[in-house]
Amino acid sequence: MSQSDSRIKHNLHNVRGRISSALSRAGRPEQSAQLIAVSKKFSGELVREAHESGQIHFGENYVQEAIPKIDELSDLPLEWHFIGPIQSNKTGQIAAKFDWVHSVDRLKIAQRLSSGRLGSPYPLKVCLQVNITGEESKQGCRIADLAELAHLVRQLPYLELRGLMTMPQINASDQDTVDIFRRLSQLKDKLNEDVFQLDVLSMGMSDDLEIGIQEGATFVRIGRGIFGDR
Ligand SMILES: *Cc1c(COP(=O)(O)O)cnc(C)c1O
Repeated sequence: MSQSDSRIKHNLHNVRGRISSALSRAGRPEQSAQLIAVSKKFSGELVREAHESGQIHFGENYVQEAIPKIDELSDLPLEWHFIGPIQSNKTGQIAAKFDWVHSVDRLKIAQRLSSGRLGSPYPLKVCLQVNITGEESKQGCRIADLAELAHLVRQLPYLELRGLMTMPQINASDQDTVDIFRRLSQLKDKLNEDVFQLDVLSMGMSDDLEIGIQEGATFVRIGRGIFGDR
């Protein structure tokens, strides 16, 4: 066993422990939140090692880097999640290679992802990324635009709208993070009072996964806590 192998195995064990404790503190069932191992900037070899420790879901931010990795690992039954900003000229590759996209924040991108998925046996599972605090510079659709975007995305033939994703600003306090995640969860509930049946909240990273789970996350996205510093 290589050193990185045992390190990744150890880190995965730790992170899974944090997830189970947080679920149990929140009175939620085991397995009701899943771990996405964010492998951006880490090699396919390390992804393979994480898979050997039972990891199935992997997250990537950069199309250029992700595609060769996904191809190299196509012998493994992995689920690939695109979680980064989406350039419209990359939507075809994303739609063809990924199982999930968490960062859909405008109609044009959603339409292009849907067309790019044509011919695939399964729809592309998507989350809408929401900019909860409304800062200009941030990724994500504004809260005021969410319901309309959700209705339009829902009509696209090769997408399956599953939930919402958000990311607090870098300097958010724990209380800010609680407020942001709680708001995302309320937005999901609100949409579900309408025609939607959203079952996914993608929120919580290495430093705030406990808050994410307390507030209802069904996916947490962890990079450094598994693979180490980039
Ligand atoms: C990089 C990234 C993560 C993982 O962050 P870490 O700090 O490595 O745990 C999660 N979500 C998104 C959207 C990211 O870009």
